[in-house]
Formats: sequence, structure tokens, C-alpha cells
Amino acid sequence: MKCPYCDTENTRVVESRPGEDGNTIRRRRECVNESCGRRFTTYERMEQRPLMVVKKDQEREEFSAEKLYRGLMRACEKRPISVEQLEAVCNDIERALRMEYEREVPSSVIGERVMDALRELDGVAYVRFASVYREFRDVETLAKEVLTLLGDKKN
Ligand SMILES: [Zn+2]
Repeated sequence: MKCPYCDTENTRVVESRPGEDGNTIRRRRECVNESCGRRFTTYERMEQRPLMVVKKDQEREEFSAEKLYRGLMRACEKRPISVEQLEAVCNDIERALRMEYEREVPSSVIGERVMDALRELDGVAYVRFASVYREFRDVETLAKEVLTLLGDKKN
């Protein structure tokens, strides 16, 4: 494994432990280059068969946890949500999808899962994501969604 700071080819593993979801191994590594010697973290992931996402136009692309995470991050920008919370949501969604859908999953299912998760996590992030995802055309539809959300919170 190459050092990300100085590109030295040799790094040594300082510590290994299983990641929270049980499918990854987290390793702390140290660069052996004496003038660098920095530490960094890598995650090893069990090789999985690809899960294909079927988009509205029937095009398919491989499911990407990173893309999912970026989408969540965008929705949660400047909200009081920690990286750990976001990672947990991302892991939960991915694990559930891989269990329920063997080879292909409609992109709409992923969108709904994200909305469900954000709804629990943060109202503002939820509305942000929903407004992009559901392509609200007018303020009225968006307002209705917000009211529904506020109604839910009261219960
Ligand atoms: Zn280095």
C-alpha cells in the first residue's frame, strides 16, 4: 500500500480491527520512509458481487456506496449531523439493499430509503433531498411535504 503523502511504496500495518459493519477491516498504517513516517487509515472490504442500479431510463450502473454517501453529505451540509451518523446511515442502507436485492435494484428504491433515513435524522436535510429527488415543481408541493413532516414530528 502506497503512502498517500509521499508515494513511498512501503508502509507497515500498525493496527487492524474489524469495521463497524463487520464487512470491512480498518487498518492503521505507517509510512516507512523516515522523512515522512505519517500514519493513515485504510479500509479493506470483502469482495462482493456487483449490485446494479436500474435507473428510470432503464440504464444500469454499478451501485456505489461512495455516491450514496456523497448524496447524503450534500443533503446534510451545514446540518448538525456527524460523519459517524452519515456513515452509519450509508452502511445501513447499503447492507439492506444487498440483502434484499441480489443483482439489481431500482434507483427509486434507493431514493426512498435515503428519504426514510433522512426523515428520521434531520428535517431540513430531508426536505433538501426530497426537493431534488422528487423534483418538486412548485412551492405548494414542497410546502405540503414540509407540513406532513411537521405533522409527523408532533406525534
Ligand atoms: Zn510517506
